[in-house]
Amino acid sequence: MPRIAYVNGRYVRHADAAVHVEDRGYQLADGVYEVCEIKRGYIVDERGHLDRLDRSMRELRMDWPVERKAMELILREVIRRNHVRNGMVYVQVTRGVAPRDHAFPTKPVRSALVVTAKRMDPRAVEAKAAKGMAVITVPENRWERVDIKTIGLLPNVLAKQAAVEAGAGEAWFVDPDGTVKEGASTNAWIVTKDGSLVTRPADHGILRGITRATVMKVADKLGLRVEERVFSVEEAQAAREAFVTSATSLVSPVVSINGKPVANGHPGSVARSLREAFFEIAEKSPTC
Ligand code: PMP
Repeated sequence: MPRIAYVNGRYVRHADAAVHVEDRGYQLADGVYEVCEIKRGYIVDERGHLDRLDRSMRELRMDWPVERKAMELILREVIRRNHVRNGMVYVQVTRGVAPRDHAFPTKPVRSALVVTAKRMDPRAVEAKAAKGMAVITVPENRWERVDIKTIGLLPNVLAKQAAVEAGAGEAWFVDPDGTVKEGASTNAWIVTKDGSLVTRPADHGILRGITRATVMKVADKLGLRVEERVFSVEEAQAAREAFVTSATSLVSPVVSINGKPVANGHPGSVARSLREAFFEIAEKSPTC
């Protein structure tokens, strides 16, 4: 059964899905995106992801390619055509197709929309989370507006590749003052000795993760304290636990940072409890 993608109004075989050579996303990374988890036939936190997509587009003065209601239907149609009950759906909007020029197109063009969906084996995902991941750190080298979820991801690509080459699962961007920003594709958290959760405030310095926001609600439900403040690499290495959050990794334990084990070097119980309670607390929208 072939995978199907949505490209600018058409459902096409994934293998044949393509955009124009002068799509501004392709040439200039002039676009934004979202990734939502799909679990047991539900889109997780769809409203939060589409609200953030809306904000990203507004910050960049881009228009919605279709009405929001139509977008919701397209997501569901792509999910349905790919028979995804567990996995993810990817949405990308670019400023459209226009003769190459850095400035915005002078003639109005419709923004371009691509949607893909992918099945993921929940057992494999759980097994990976149960193992935990190693993290390395890299110097922060991104622009100041990483609160906008743009497809301009070159620093993230290089950071993740450095992690892979070091046998790690994620790379944390670190400011010159030694404080942790976030991962290449995740938000970063630690658990202090007294059991509080710590994560960096979501100002312009990090992406305001949708999973991060839901984890705060889960923490509240579990009676855990959350402190939004900066923390250093040293504090993270000496923490009781560390973990990362994102739509695809949910809550994933970090077992070492730059080769130094976090606590006993095994996933901790706080991250596990947060992960277990996550789906119950998250907003779930049916896919059909
Ligand atoms: N930070 C970065 C840089 C990311 O790419 C992501 C993943 N989209 C996140 C944080 C986590 O965000 P979310 O929980 O919304 O997936």
